[in-house]
Amino acid sequence: MPSCPRCHQQVDAQAIACPFCHTELKAHGHPGITLHRAIQEGYLCDTCTYHADDTCNFPQRPFAKECTLYLNVNRVSNSKPYKPTFNTTLQGWLQRNATWIVLGLLIAVSLFLAISGR
Ligand code: SF4
Ligand SMILES: [Zn+2]
Repeated sequence: MPSCPRCHQQVDAQAIACPFCHTELKAHGHPGITLHRAIQEGYLCDTCTYHADDTCNFPQRPFAKECTLYLNVNRVSNSKPYKPTFNTTLQGWLQRNATWIVLGLLIAVSLFLAISGR
């Protein structure tokens, strides 16, 4: 039987909220989705498989305190480690840096127009 991350009382695995301290245990009240929570000072991403293999593109990464997709990196150690392909890595990098890429392109176009206009 799992325990509540806040008050550490034993709670039913299907409980949406802790019956003792009322901490929400399932994401947005959905019984089928577990909402993982960081313990005290740490962040979930520090021990998450998707942070370790650089495939997560959630905006709260790497400072997620709550996450529904969290997967402990130690739990998948017996399976074959996931190696992201070049395309996956590039796609993630482009998504995370889209704002800077667009800004850089705008500056480059502005400079080009300023130089070629003379
Ligand atoms: S899936 Fe969640 S916990 Fe894992 S790296 Fe992404 S934001 Fe962090
Ligand atoms: Zn509780």
